[in-house]
Amino acid sequence: NHLLLNDSIVPESDVAISYKDRGYHFGDGVYEVVRVYEGAFFTLDPHIDRLYESANQIDMSLPFSKEHLKANLEAYKTKEQLENGSIYLQITRGEAERNHLYTREEEPVLLGFVLPDRPPTDASTVGIAAYVTADVRWLRCDIKSINLLGNVMAKRKATDHDCGEAILYRETAVTEGSTSNLFLVNNGTLYTHPADNYILNGITRREVIALAHELGIDVVEEPFPKEVLAHAEEAFITSTSIEITPVHSFKGDVEATLKVGPLTKKLQQAFTERVQKTRSA
Ligand code: PLP
Repeated sequence: NHLLLNDSIVPESDVAISYKDRGYHFGDGVYEVVRVYEGAFFTLDPHIDRLYESANQIDMSLPFSKEHLKANLEAYKTKEQLENGSIYLQITRGEAERNHLYTREEEPVLLGFVLPDRPPTDASTVGIAAYVTADVRWLRCDIKSINLLGNVMAKRKATDHDCGEAILYRETAVTEGSTSNLFLVNNGTLYTHPADNYILNGITRREVIALAHELGIDVVEEPFPKEVLAHAEEAFITSTSIEITPVHSFKGDVEATLKVGPLTKKLQQAFTERVQKTRSA
């Protein structure tokens, strides 16, 4: 097993990260998860663009060009002979004496490693239960920061209530899942939170919106309050790892039962075709 460490591919046993890394003290860093299907990266460019945008938003400049990083990722994927799985990539601000104040002199540390696919479940056909709970995260959820305590706590809470995901809401709007974006279906229209500072603009979310447009499905990107969840016809969550996963029920602060409906299935089908098309491209 090898890892990608800065500009090199190194054996796992050679990786040593300083205890002074600001990622460790402050969660001072950003990350991405990119999927590989049948040996090919899926939507690599938007993931790399988002990584650079996240870094830019936290005032961190990356030591490599996007092209250089993409070449390193290709080389790493080949070295690991990765056919199906994901690559986790994080960049922290690097080593420094512990001090909230960063100096812009730090050298960012890039670390990449393979995340194997999780064993398949029936979630994509039967759906999952989702636990509706307050969104207690900060106000820059658009940055894909490694500082994920709010998400981590919500995920645990959902699991403790036998749910597969937490659905988060603020005073006037349902935002997203703890590790996914949320879509509702009502009267043939898709509803999802707009891509502002309250959510991470998922790459899968963007793919789903593009596919919906291609299929002639209306998409409304507007905030909606949590009460709306109670009368959704269909709902699904999206992410790089879980693709399009239906929600069969809401629990917690809103309770509802939904069907795994035709629009969700249609988009799942279109997404699978999109993945296959990229593979053969
Ligand atoms: N929202 C949050 C909070 C996430 O952590 C993730 C991914 O892990 C997503 C949305 C979905 O993003 P993507 O589709 O780019 O994986």
